[in-house]
Amino acid sequence: MKKKGLAIVISGPSGAGKGTICKELVKRNKNISISVSATTRKPRKNEVEGKNYYFYSEEEFNEKIKENDFLEYAKVYGNYYGTPKSKVIDEIENGKDVILEIDIQGALQIKESYPKGVFIFVMPPSMEELRNRITSRGTDSREVILERMECAYHELNYAFKYDYVIINDDLDEAVKIVDSILIAENHRAIRKKDIIEKIKEE
Ligand code: 5GP
Repeated sequence: MKKKGLAIVISGPSGAGKGTICKELVKRNKNISISVSATTRKPRKNEVEGKNYYFYSEEEFNEKIKENDFLEYAKVYGNYYGTPKSKVIDEIENGKDVILEIDIQGALQIKESYPKGVFIFVMPPSMEELRNRITSRGTDSREVILERMECAYHELNYAFKYDYVIINDDLDEAVKIVDSILIAENHRAIRKKDIIEKIKEE
């Protein structure tokens, strides 16, 4: 019986460092991939179609919703974002762990439809540090920074809906913690059901 991969859902406020943690995880672990989401947001400079996102018009996005092509989708900061279903399911069925770096609304939808997922919330060590990180990216206007800070403050209330909370003070440490979580998750009794049955039959 083939071992299935994990669906690793990672959320947290903008500026918490989720993206950097995810990239580092993939670099260190060949069996992990990151799901590429679809969005109606316009591409930023340096973003590549199919690598960062699949960039769709609203009509195209609505068509995908109608065709039931998304595992989840949500409106975030005025644009739609969704996780294409078939690739994620294929990879998990083939034993690959897949990271979904998605917002809280999407994570809650996945928790409902696929509770076997691993739900991780990444937080900044303080609001001040969060402000520094968002500001130093230099990509957002003052209004956007304020909006993201307010949103982050509100989002912290949802941390308890997740299985794990990582306070991202140090990248290396944060990646080590996620690695340990994945090792432990792979050894959960519930994920060993098939192998236990097989051993019993021998
Ligand atoms: P950005 O536009 O900065 O790349 O992403 C904005 C927000 O959208 C982030 O919080 C990110 O996690 C979230 N996001 C990205 N892809 C998806 C997705 O497929 N589904 C949902 N629900 N949120 C997503």
